Amino acid sequence: MKDKITLIRGDITQQEVEVLVNAANAHLAGGGGVDGAIHHAGGAAIMKELKEKYRGCPTGSAVITRAGNLRARYVIHAVGPRWQGGNKGEPTLLASAYRTSLALAQQYGCQTIAFPSISTGIYGYPVEEGAKIALKTVSQYLRENPVFTTVRFILFDEKTLKAYQGAYQYVGA
Ligand code: ADP
Repeated sequence: MKDKITLIRGDITQQEVEVLVNAANAHLAGGGGVDGAIHHAGGAAIMKELKEKYRGCPTGSAVITRAGNLRARYVIHAVGPRWQGGNKGEPTLLASAYRTSLALAQQYGCQTIAFPSISTGIYGYPVEEGAKIALKTVSQYLRENPVFTTVRFILFDEKTLKAYQGAYQYVGA
């Protein structure tokens, strides 16, 4: 698994992969952070398609659109949980957001995907915990569904990159 999952510091909008995952909100309304960056770089077509096809998205799930001006085929808009102290099902919902994204990408025939660190920005999920869940969930999915050749975590700042490097031990061999 370690040959497929890579941790990179960078801006997800610049990645050349088939699918970019967005950390969206349940209203699919656009927002700050990575969501703002993806809509800005991708152009208005993405929001137009979201509005036409979906009426929001439950926390822990995801929806897919085309990628507008981005160098990707699709954007998957995943809704992670807002951190509320940890006893409101946050770990399960976060794992589910990653799993649903991979399942959607697989369904659309994609083999390369880039994720941001879902929920650990504005949604306040502690980044060390979020990193563990992200890496455990993705590596387990890849073991069960060996269709992806590349899964990149694009981590925006040094603190987040360090947290994911620290949790990399949770990725199986
Ligand atoms: P959430 O609301 O799910 O917490 P955020 O967008 O606020 O989503 O933050 C998720 C992570 O994405 C944070 O680590 C944030 O620093 C990071 N981020 C912000 N902009 C980008 C970008 N352009 N590319 C990759 N990651 C980004």
